[in-house]
Amino acid sequence: LRQGLDKTRRGIVNQLKAIVGQGPLNQAAVDEIESLLLQADVGVEATDYIIKALQKQLREEVTPPDKAIAYLKTILRDMLDAPLKTSYKPSFTPEKENLNIWLITGVNGAGKTTTIGKIAHLAQKSGYKCLIGAADTFRAAAVEQVKVWGSRSGVEVIANPGQNTDPAAVVFDAIAAAVARETELLLVDTAGRLQNKKNLMDELSKIRRIIDKKAPNAKVESLLVLDATLGQNGLRQAEVFSQAAQLSGVVLTKLDGTAKGGVALAVVQQLGLPIRFIGAGEGIEDLRPFSSYEFVEALLS
Ligand code: GDP
Repeated sequence: LRQGLDKTRRGIVNQLKAIVGQGPLNQAAVDEIESLLLQADVGVEATDYIIKALQKQLREEVTPPDKAIAYLKTILRDMLDAPLKTSYKPSFTPEKENLNIWLITGVNGAGKTTTIGKIAHLAQKSGYKCLIGAADTFRAAAVEQVKVWGSRSGVEVIANPGQNTDPAAVVFDAIAAAVARETELLLVDTAGRLQNKKNLMDELSKIRRIIDKKAPNAKVESLLVLDATLGQNGLRQAEVFSQAAQLSGVVLTKLDGTAKGGVALAVVQQLGLPIRFIGAGEGIEDLRPFSSYEFVEALLS
């Protein structure tokens, strides 16, 4: 993770550390911090919040650098943990011996298919019975691609032959297969067309209806896969999806290729959604359950 966040850390965070570590915060230091946070794509809202929190803590005291950094770490961790209603352990958390259905959403290119492959692999490794539903039926290549990932992780993929089949029909079949096989985690790939919000909404709500009807006791999550390299632009996409899907969390991908790791803070602050996983590479192992502690340590240590 530390390696994955190298670019973000080198680009901005080290300078931030140097300024905060000097304490006390005067106006010039605050201005500098503000501009650094904005450069790291932390976003205006989250930046304001961090600055205010820092000022409150450090006001008038001459704070030793170690203590100032510790304050900053606490502020960031608390921000990242805020959307979690219960205390959260950084582990893989589907309920055992129950059907968990995770809808994986996001625009094409965000890393949806790769993420599904990685989660399937993690599920297998963690002893879950896993299945993939290839409901991105719009792109012919998507089904093939998800099958490749399925075979890499040894997880079966339920797909419909033929192009442009109804995604909800695939979900229907996938749930039937999941119930018959006592699957614990069903990952559902969904279409990533953002051009038409209404279509997206209709499709996702139809899938939801099928799930409610066919698997009323399943624990359903809706995860948005978001490309971290897009920084603030990705957030606009995220807003569209959060209107169309009842999102329960975000998977932030491509953190290895960007200095915009600060977008994690913007996602949490602006969307009120927890980050659930982070992707930091193209390989099957390059996905981690998110931990605010790990993340902040990797950034600021
Ligand atoms: P989809 O269209 O959303 O299904 O996106 P894909 O899963 O096909 O991924 C698009 C590209 O991003 C591929 O080249 C992936 O290898 C790459 N990718 C996905 N996740 C990551 C990541 O965490 N880090 C890096 N560096 N590349 C990634």
